[in-house]
Amino acid sequence: MNQLTSYDFLIVGAGIAGLSLAWQLEKKHKSFLIIDPGGQHKSSRVAAGMFNPISGKRMTVNWRVQELLTDLHETFNEFNSLLGKKYLVDANIIQCFGNTKESNDFSLQLEKSDFSRFIGSNPIEIDGLNQEFGSFEVLGSGWVKTKEWIEDFQDYLLKKGAFIKDKVEWKALSLDGNEWHWQGHSFAKVVSCEGYHYQNNPYFNWLPFKLCKGQVLHIQCVGLNQKYILKKGVYLVHQYDDVYKVGATYEWDFEDEKPNELGKETLINKLDKLLTLPYSIVSQESGVRPTTRDRAAILGKHPEVKNLYCFNGLGTKGMLQAPFLAKHFLAAMEGLTSLDPKVAIERFYPFYSTGQI
Ligand SMILES: Cc1cc2nc3c(=O)[nH]c(=O)nc-3n(C[C@H](O)[C@H](O)[C@H](O)COP(=O)(O)OP(=O)(O)OC[C@H]3O[C@@H](n4cnc5c(N)ncnc54)[C@H](O)[C@@H]3O)c2cc1C
Repeated sequence: MNQLTSYDFLIVGAGIAGLSLAWQLEKKHKSFLIIDPGGQHKSSRVAAGMFNPISGKRMTVNWRVQELLTDLHETFNEFNSLLGKKYLVDANIIQCFGNTKESNDFSLQLEKSDFSRFIGSNPIEIDGLNQEFGSFEVLGSGWVKTKEWIEDFQDYLLKKGAFIKDKVEWKALSLDGNEWHWQGHSFAKVVSCEGYHYQNNPYFNWLPFKLCKGQVLHIQCVGLNQKYILKKGVYLVHQYDDVYKVGATYEWDFEDEKPNELGKETLINKLDKLLTLPYSIVSQESGVRPTTRDRAAILGKHPEVKNLYCFNGLGTKGMLQAPFLAKHFLAAMEGLTSLDPKVAIERFYPFYSTGQI
């Protein structure tokens, strides 16, 4: 059990962002406390944990994809050794076209070598799947058993005395000289990894997020027997036995974070275009993605307040990005590199007015 009262870092939030940072700190022998109250409807706990080198409808290759994939695999090999479980599942995606235009656009993209290196060369036919317009296989993709990893790693940190199940009330944190204080502990640096709850943080609520609610279903489909990830409007990710995760909705206007009938109907409508086999619904979950206006993460220092940082904005691709970004962020905080301008918080400083806290 940890008996320290003085730490290098306080991490607020133990989702994919906070835990990825905690792991980098642990590897560098930095002392830290990480705080999270836990609970339902957390983006990280409902996420399918998929990683896909190819992004979106326009079928472009992701930003710094090779580094992202390398760090993701390296990190989950490390968790495999630390926690004795394999959380990362290599599973190629079978992406079905929804119409002829998509299939034509794909043919054009194939001429680009950075794209084509992630595409399988043989067509794959799957029983129970509607492939009327054709499909292609995405190599190098897969998913992480996110909820299981979060619970196991939080448990590991709890046993070490590095994790506290609590909510940080920002008014209970104080900065004295260079040092932050909270509940009798002191910290050299504080990092907000609060996901969409950034809006309750008086220091960072000026950031221009554009939040996106997502809902998922678990279904049982006997006879599909698929380890591939199947995609067409929605994705199907095998979980266990005959159970699959189906997701997700992208809701840019929403009233609350809870699952609802409209979300269920939307997913069912899309699922019926993908699957030709019968299925039953097992459960429904939801969360809010911390998505930003320019769809890039937000890393870096508060414009005014000392020793206060933000690691957020992982958006729709938390799992693919978090291991690389946590490492990159820590290296920048240590002055070993400068942040990639695409993710650096400085691009949003014009949204901040001096003294607005
Ligand atoms: C339906 C759905 C499906 C998704 N599927 C995928 C996918 O397949 N692949 C993928 O890569 N991404 C996916 N995502 C996106 C991914 O979930 C997010 O990018 C990621 O979870 C964001 O992680 P985070 O740690 O920044 O935020 P969160 O998961 O929201 O975590 C923030 C944490 O901070 C805590 N917190 C907030 N305020 C405080 C406070 N004051 N004190 C203490 N703790 C606090 C919260 O309790 C929470 O646990 C999906 C998201 C949704 C909603």
